[in-house]
Amino acid sequence: MTTSNNYQDIREAVRDLCAQFPDEYHRKIDAARTYPQEFVEALTQAGWLAALIPQEYGGSGLGQHEASVIMEEINRCGGNAGACHGQMYNMGTLLRHGSQAQKDFYLPKIASGQWRLQSMGVTEPSTGTDTTKIKTTAVKKGDRYVVNGQKVWISRVQHSDFMILLARTTPLAEVKKKSEGMSIFMVDLRAAEKSGLTVRPIPNMVNHETNELFFENLEIPAENLIGQEGQGFRYILDGLNAERTLIAAECIGDGYWFVDRVSKYVKDRVVFGRPTGQNQGVQFPIAESFIEVEAANLMRWRACELFDAHQPCGAEANMAKYLAAKASWEAANVCLQMHGGFGFACEYDIERKFRETRLYQVAPISTNLIFSYVAEHMLGLPRSF
Ligand SMILES: Cc1cc2nc3c(=O)[nH]c(=O)nc-3n(C[C@H](O)[C@H](O)[C@H](O)COP(=O)(O)OP(=O)(O)OC[C@H]3O[C@@H](n4cnc5c(N)ncnc54)[C@H](O)[C@@H]3O)c2cc1C
Repeated sequence: MTTSNNYQDIREAVRDLCAQFPDEYHRKIDAARTYPQEFVEALTQAGWLAALIPQEYGGSGLGQHEASVIMEEINRCGGNAGACHGQMYNMGTLLRHGSQAQKDFYLPKIASGQWRLQSMGVTEPSTGTDTTKIKTTAVKKGDRYVVNGQKVWISRVQHSDFMILLARTTPLAEVKKKSEGMSIFMVDLRAAEKSGLTVRPIPNMVNHETNELFFENLEIPAENLIGQEGQGFRYILDGLNAERTLIAAECIGDGYWFVDRVSKYVKDRVVFGRPTGQNQGVQFPIAESFIEVEAANLMRWRACELFDAHQPCGAEANMAKYLAAKASWEAANVCLQMHGGFGFACEYDIERKFRETRLYQVAPISTNLIFSYVAEHMLGLPRSF
C-alpha cells in the first residue's frame, strides 16, 4: 500500500500503453541519443498529453491531480516524461493569459497533437537564474516585434512546432519593478528558423534534447504577444507551479521505480549464502528511501489540491518539487549501491534512470532557489537578491 494507489483507472491505462515500450526501447533510444518519437506519438494519440486542455478545445479537461498521475506513471514504468512534459503544461500560459482568438487558433491543434508546444525559452547564458536580467529584447516595429538575443538550455525545440519566448520589451532601467517590462510570445519555430533563429543542440549527460538559441532580428507578428505587454514574467511564474507539480510527480514515479527495482534485486541476489536483502545494512537504506518517496508524495497531492482549487500554491509546488527530487535522487543512489557492479551495466537501466533523475536537482529550478523562496516568502527572512 502506498500513497499512490489512487486514480487506478488512469494508472492502468497509462501502464498498458507504457508496456508496449519496455526497458529495451528506452535503453536503445538513450544509447542512440534520439527522440522517443513512437512513444510520444502513442501518448499523444491516446490523448494523455492533452489532459489539461479543456474539452471545448478538444482536450480531456482533467485537473492537476490526474495530469500528475499520467507523468508519474510514465516514469514509474521506466520511461522519461521529460521528453514530452512540456506539451502538457506549456499551453497553460496560453490558456490562462491568451486571447480568445489565440486559444481558438492554437489549442485544438495542440490537443490533437497536430502542433507541439513543448518548448519554453526563458534561461539565458549570461543571466542564469537571475531571470529579470534577461538580455533578449523584443522591440515593437509596426505590426511586428523584432527579437535579438540568446537563450540556453531550451528543451525540445527540435520536436516542437511552437515555443513560448520570454523577452524584454521595456529596458530594465525604465521599469519601476524589475519583474515588469518582460513579455511572452508564441514563436512559430519552423518559420523562425528560416528568418533569424539559429538552433544549436547541446549534447548533455541525459538524453534530453536541449539547445542554445540565437536570435538575430527575428520578426514575430505583434498578434503573437500573449496577454499584456510587460506582464510576461508574472504569466511565466503562474505556469511554473504547474511545471513544478508535474515534475514532482515524475520524480515520485522515478522514486518508486528505484525502490521497486532494488527491493526485487536484493531478494534474489545471494552473497555470503543469503539474500543481500536479509542484511539490515541493505534493508534500512531501501526502507528509508521508500519513506522519503511516500512523504514527498503527500506534498505533491497537497500542491495538486491547491492548484486545482485555484488557490495560491507557489510554496507547496516548490516544496513538492524539492522533496520529490531529493527522494528520487536518494532512492537512485541506494538502488545503484545495492546493485553493486551490476548497477553500472546499461542493461539494468539503473544508470540511465540515475542520470535522468539527477537533472531535477538543477532544472527547472535548482534546490538553492527553492530554499531561497521558502526562506523569504514563508519564513519572512531578508531578501538576498
Ligand atoms: C537539461 C536541461 C534542460 C533545461 N530546459 C530548459 C528549458 O526548456 N527552458 C529554460 O528556459 N531553461 C531550461 N533549463 C535551464 C534551467 O532552468 C537552469 O539551468 C536552472 O534554472 C539553473 O540556471 P543556470 O544553469 O544558469 O545556473 P546558475 O543560475 O548559474 O546557478 C548555478 C548554481 O548556483 C546556485 N545559485 C545561483 N544563484 C544563487 C543564489 N543567489 N543563492 C544560492 N545559490 C545560487 C544555483 O542554485 C545553482 O545550483 C534547462 C537546464 C537543463 C540542464
